[in-house]
Amino acid sequence: MADNHSKEMRSMNMSHIRNKNSKPEEKVRKYLFSKDFRYRKNVKDLPGKPDIVLPKYKTVVFVNGCFWHKHDCPRFVWPSSNKEYWVPKIQRNVERDIENTRLLEEQGWQVLTVWECQLKAGTAEETLRGIVKQIAKNKT
Ligand SMILES: [Zn+2]
Repeated sequence: MADNHSKEMRSMNMSHIRNKNSKPEEKVRKYLFSKDFRYRKNVKDLPGKPDIVLPKYKTVVFVNGCFWHKHDCPRFVWPSSNKEYWVPKIQRNVERDIENTRLLEEQGWQVLTVWECQLKAGTAEETLRGIVKQIAKNKT
């Protein structure tokens, strides 16, 4: 599969892989843990395999990369090359996100999304405080 990827695409894939288990999700998890929230990670039997699941609050949290999930923010720009590869791929991600949210809400879950750009220095604290408020509101 890597064979027909351009160099540019490969480096983007690699940065995606690098991000997968590191920064943004960990930031949110650490914060929640410090506030005494207990959660499960990447629950496979829920639609979309949410990054964080808080059963006690019937809440799931997705921590989304702005590029992969097409956030309406300056971090999202279409790659200048290989549009025929990227456009459908990203569109599929967006459609999947919508579908997963629908399925989760049907099952009674509160679905929260944290965007990568909302976790940068300066706004992270406010974002995380907001998330905690949303979670706490939903205590069962
Ligand atoms: Zn963003």
